[in-house]
Amino acid sequence: MKSVEQHIRDVLDLVEPLEPIDLDLLRAHGAVLAEPVASGVALPPFDNSSMDGYAVTADDLAGASAEEPVRLPVVADIPAGDVAATAVRRGHCARIMTGAPLPRGADAVVPVEWTDGGLATVAVDRPVRPGNAIRRAGEDVEKGVTVLQRGARLGAGELAVLAAVGRGSVPVHPRPRVVVLSTGAELVEPGSPIGPGQIWESNSYMLTAAALDEGCSAFRRGFVGDDPATVMETIEDALVEADVVLTTGGVSMGAYDVVKEVLSRLGTVRFDKVAMQPGMPQGAGTVGDSATPILTLPGNPVSSYVSFQLFVRPVLRRLRGLSPDPLPAVHARLTSPVPHSPKGRRSYLRSVLEYDGAGGPTPYTARIATRQGSHQLSALAETNALAVVPEAVTELAEGSVVEVLQLPAAP
Ligand code: AMP
Ligand code: MG
Repeated sequence: MKSVEQHIRDVLDLVEPLEPIDLDLLRAHGAVLAEPVASGVALPPFDNSSMDGYAVTADDLAGASAEEPVRLPVVADIPAGDVAATAVRRGHCARIMTGAPLPRGADAVVPVEWTDGGLATVAVDRPVRPGNAIRRAGEDVEKGVTVLQRGARLGAGELAVLAAVGRGSVPVHPRPRVVVLSTGAELVEPGSPIGPGQIWESNSYMLTAAALDEGCSAFRRGFVGDDPATVMETIEDALVEADVVLTTGGVSMGAYDVVKEVLSRLGTVRFDKVAMQPGMPQGAGTVGDSATPILTLPGNPVSSYVSFQLFVRPVLRRLRGLSPDPLPAVHARLTSPVPHSPKGRRSYLRSVLEYDGAGGPTPYTARIATRQGSHQLSALAETNALAVVPEAVTELAEGSVVEVLQLPAAP
């Protein structure tokens, strides 16, 4: 059997970061920057006021007090956006608003709260130190410096910086287009009636949502029956709109394992048994003229989900231009024993990871869900982590410390 790590290396070998494209800021939200961005300007671009008040010469207010306020004539009114080249002479002042350019001659701003708010003349009741309430040009960003590094994920703060330095678009790795296709003659669309021997299809919803959560554009192709011609045709159809194709079902050892049958004949897809539980049967390779990467996941819903988190997620991260890190992990104490784990296979047990802050080996606990069958998907909804039982370990006592992978939460 192939190790989990080897399979991760193999699937990562199938992909490279997607070619950068230029996107407008909001379209680039959530994408990864493909080149560093330097600022072509200083920020702020000019000295300006950080408060509503009066631009003054600080020396003029040296003797000001509540008992004896200093009165200054107001020679101008400077709103934000003002372009008049106002100047303030000694003994005079200008009313100024937040963000408005500091007039020549002024070396401080007196907040309106220190004054009587006068329009023709203003009374100021205390002295001000030079530089007060002035935002200097370049004190945020100096012209020419790199404001965002290549590889930055563009969230709210990053978009704000890009907009502030005047960028309307940026080169990013586009969102990978993920097409999800399930196979199985027994599958029925949720919302429609079900017959004997049938089940409602759930994998494609799960995987499409998981791919969206990873910052991809994901398309649910739905499901097809176990007919080789239809499966082939649907996969070929999907290739035009896919950077990566995900299928579920039809990859184990049974008859009617249609994905395996079709892809074994076509493309470079290789089918392996990976030393894990759930999720042992895995296939990966490329299909079609443009060698589109395809990962064929097992049909059991829990196997499919765990396969996504272990193998598909790093692939999507690499396509996005991120490092293909595994799920974040912590160590946790088991709140119950694990009576059995298969020798030679690594178990991923759905668990509820909690922080209890206790001292000792780790402040986390892992409560293992009772239903761990690869068809028992109910616990997917209430667990937030996968506890890892190594290949060589076949049982664990309560209180044992294990590695626990944190599953992504819904956005
Ligand atoms: P397979 O890998 O096709 O042999 O399927 C393994 C098990 O997973 C069977 O019990 C299938 O009914 C179930 N299964 C396969 N595909 C899906 C799906 N898309 N949604 C829900 N269950 C599925
Ligand atoms: Mg099947």
